[in-house]
Amino acid sequence: MENSPLIYPVPKAFADASNLTPDGYKSLYERSINDRDGFFAEQAKRIQWMTEPTHVGSWSFKSPVKIEWFRDGILNVTESCLDRHLETRGDKVAIIFEGDEPGESQTFTYRELHRHVCRFANVLKAQGAGKGDRITLYMPMIPEAAIAMLACARIGAVHSVVFGGFSPDALAGRIVDCDSHLVITADEGVRGGRIVPLKKNADAACEIAARNGVTVKTQLVVQRTGGDVAWQDGRDIWYHEAAAEASVDCPAEPMSAEDPLFILYTSGSTGQPKGVLHTCGGYLVWASMTHDYVFDLKEDDVYWCTADVGWVTGHTYIVYGPLANGATTLMFEGVPTYPDASRAWQVCDTHKVSLFYTAPTAIRALMREGDDPVKVTDRTSLRVLGTVGEPINPEAWEWYFNVVGDGRCPIIDTWWQTETGGAMIVPLPGTVDMKPGAGTFPMFGIEPELLDADGKVLEGATEGNLVITASWPGQMRTVYGDHERFEQTYFSTYPGNYFTGDGARRDADGTIWITGRVDDVINVSGHRMGTAEVEAALGSHPDVAESAVVGYPHDIKGQGIYAYVTTTAGTVETDELKRDLVRHVRAEIGPIASPDLIQFSDGLPKTRSGKIMRRILRKIAANDYDALGDTSTLAEPAVVDALIDGRMNR
Ligand code: ATP
Ligand code: MG
Repeated sequence: MENSPLIYPVPKAFADASNLTPDGYKSLYERSINDRDGFFAEQAKRIQWMTEPTHVGSWSFKSPVKIEWFRDGILNVTESCLDRHLETRGDKVAIIFEGDEPGESQTFTYRELHRHVCRFANVLKAQGAGKGDRITLYMPMIPEAAIAMLACARIGAVHSVVFGGFSPDALAGRIVDCDSHLVITADEGVRGGRIVPLKKNADAACEIAARNGVTVKTQLVVQRTGGDVAWQDGRDIWYHEAAAEASVDCPAEPMSAEDPLFILYTSGSTGQPKGVLHTCGGYLVWASMTHDYVFDLKEDDVYWCTADVGWVTGHTYIVYGPLANGATTLMFEGVPTYPDASRAWQVCDTHKVSLFYTAPTAIRALMREGDDPVKVTDRTSLRVLGTVGEPINPEAWEWYFNVVGDGRCPIIDTWWQTETGGAMIVPLPGTVDMKPGAGTFPMFGIEPELLDADGKVLEGATEGNLVITASWPGQMRTVYGDHERFEQTYFSTYPGNYFTGDGARRDADGTIWITGRVDDVINVSGHRMGTAEVEAALGSHPDVAESAVVGYPHDIKGQGIYAYVTTTAGTVETDELKRDLVRHVRAEIGPIASPDLIQFSDGLPKTRSGKIMRRILRKIAANDYDALGDTSTLAEPAVVDALIDGRMNR
């Protein structure tokens, strides 16, 4: 495919005040590669150590794979996130909570947050929890979710946060996988005006877990709504009752840099979720460093990441990164379209949000509602707009830039994974002209390479499989309880490299474009094509709200292109429109990318984190309905039946 002709220069006013310049990026990047250990030894000084490390990186990507950073350092991450700010930022707001209903909001200063975390930590201790224990969190997006995570870290326990939208089965599977005996939940959550029965689901999950050999001994329940819940004496404890007797004084447990901080299961877009393990020292350095650079952080910024704490984005960019940096971080309980499509921008106006970070799926959902809900708000506080989770189609990128940001704010398209701990390929704000849809350049210390199927390094303008050749501090250390799966998944395809599972294209300027998962690459008559590119072309048609493209068996071409298309509200779905879409893609990319079959569909199967699950769409396109694989992480399972009906009836 041709390079996108679109280039957006950094808005002048932004460039004049940005922390990094284009030359600043280049020289720091070169330093980070040429003297990796020297660079990261310096970066390690961002965080607070009880004993400073003398070692920096020690790792091997060859079997047996072992990754360590700052291994003789001693720390507790909560001292970096809380204690050390007390003197200079004690009265600064650490967390702004914005509730589901407009007008329901609350703030916590660093001093207040510190007290809450220490008290929560003492409640955990009173339940017998301590260093190394796995604690499962199943929480709504309320401040107690962040407080509970930090309380685990305070006592050296390993948190495993499970997204509050998951089913009892999915929760039970994760409780069993990490053998967790303590669950922290809430009576109910509230999201988009609807009640989420968290305690009820957690109760069911405990039963399922018990049948599978893991007994949850304690459920600590935070009261959110006061709704009626079932109660099991001896196991269930109200947090507010336990907290009433707990002290707000809790010394931080000394941890080795390589002690586990948390386990987090991947979204499950490609199969069975993996229990990604991150450790204390390297992860926090990476979270702090990347949060600072990605968002051009300044002391008085108000920062809002719309992710849920149940995803890695919530871990690194709602909790650990911002708090380590002494920033003000906003936690939003609701959804950006409730009570109406202006909500996200109203929240920005109310709290004077300057840094905003969301996902393409949210941008597309808001874009579908048109410009008016945006235009009725002010948004002049916004400075940087970020996106993460999927490739962003240029259409959505431009809407985000022009309509949401009024052309003032750089768009930071951050490519990364649960496994990488933090942002890896990013157009750092102020350092580079922006190409909509491009991940652009590597973060400091990151060496990406593109390989062909045989592992040969591809040079220059090219397309291939994205690997990272050297370790970085935020890298996952293992799959919990299954180091062999870790080696097998990430280091066996291209020995000596970390294989991301994603494909990428590099243009003549060295700009990197993520083209989607390698498994999703379509091979039409010997031409390899990323799904992202065909979807971007479809997305630029005025009648298309969202699309997903997969390959399916085709007698002549090997693989044909199957496109699932959701049209914009009010569109009449005719065969003529299908022909027009084919013409449109031919004009945008070329005849080789023409969809062979188009199916109109009201909804697409998405993970709970909003990513399209193409593996299911591939099965449906291939008329293979029996082996749909793990669908436990689907947001709306009913979508699948509707798609199968649509497929069979064509
Ligand atoms: P699983 O590994 O269980 O299949 P997952 O890969 O969806 O699930 P995550 O770690 O949440 O789990 O997602 C990381 C993936 O999301 C990346 O590998 C990439 O495919 C995609 N991704 C994330 N951010 C971007 C981005 N800015 N541009 C393109 N793709 C992105
Ligand atoms: Mg993945």
